[in-house]
Amino acid sequence: MPCFAFARYPSDPNNVRRVVLAVSFLSAVGCTGVFARPPGVPLSLGDHGTGKLLTGTTLPPDGLGYSVPAAWRGRSALYTTGQIQLALTRSFANVDRLFPGSLAPLGDIARKGGGPAAGHGSHRSGRDVDIFFYALDAGGLPLPHFEAMLKFGATGKAVAWSPAFGRKPPKLPIPAATFDVPRTWALVRALLTDPAAQVQWIFIQRDLAGLVVNQAKKEGEQPDLVAQAEELLRQPGDSAPHDDHLHVRFYCDPGQRSLGCVDRGPQRWLKKYWKYLPERQGVTPPVDLIVVVDALVVSSAPN
Ligand SMILES: [Zn+2]
Repeated sequence: MPCFAFARYPSDPNNVRRVVLAVSFLSAVGCTGVFARPPGVPLSLGDHGTGKLLTGTTLPPDGLGYSVPAAWRGRSALYTTGQIQLALTRSFANVDRLFPGSLAPLGDIARKGGGPAAGHGSHRSGRDVDIFFYALDAGGLPLPHFEAMLKFGATGKAVAWSPAFGRKPPKLPIPAATFDVPRTWALVRALLTDPAAQVQWIFIQRDLAGLVVNQAKKEGEQPDLVAQAEELLRQPGDSAPHDDHLHVRFYCDPGQRSLGCVDRGPQRWLKKYWKYLPERQGVTPPVDLIVVVDALVVSSAPN
């Protein structure tokens, strides 16, 4: 495999000896790890809590079926990999197809280059995505986005504001909002079934997770998909309960593991029992790729 990494280094005379030695070594053993990465291809490097994101792509703040609320727009934290960008945008577009005009409130993914992200313990390698909850008003109509997230109680009623990192809660009464269970299941379903990237976890408070899984059962979903949702919709034990947003964590792209991408926790689903259930059938295919490509403005930025 060709080595591209050194093409990025300037020919600084101080580094010449080091580069020559390294090239000699790599010629002898062949290129491995990050050095084998084709130039410009986003690479999720390391794990969610300590990693980085090399040459990530960034989502536009508005797209088909999603929008970044104002308080999060200035954070420049929408960088990820191409596969995850595709899975996200296609999932949002799928929900829009089922609930026309629906806008998922998209929060932080990773900042340019990844690494430490203000207000987050993870979100470092471009594979963690915050999506705030869809909400309905008292009449059952979708609510617009607010300047803060809403926390929802066990029965799905809004109970408090949850402002963006470094911001104060709005001086407004808590709206009579309800956690929109059918739309949330539509999004979770789209994410779990999208072939572009595999979901490792969707962190969410356990009662809200229960509402979403019940919705899947009510809709008569395939048993393996319900089992998968039951397993992956999880209240984390070591951080906030996630009663104000979905936190989606994607696995490394399989082709990036040998380049330095690291998954923590369960590796794939090989030991999960839904793997052995009858294969699911009749899963709605993702919306036509052309529709998504039309809606995408992908930009690639150097690290
Ligand atoms: Zn989160």
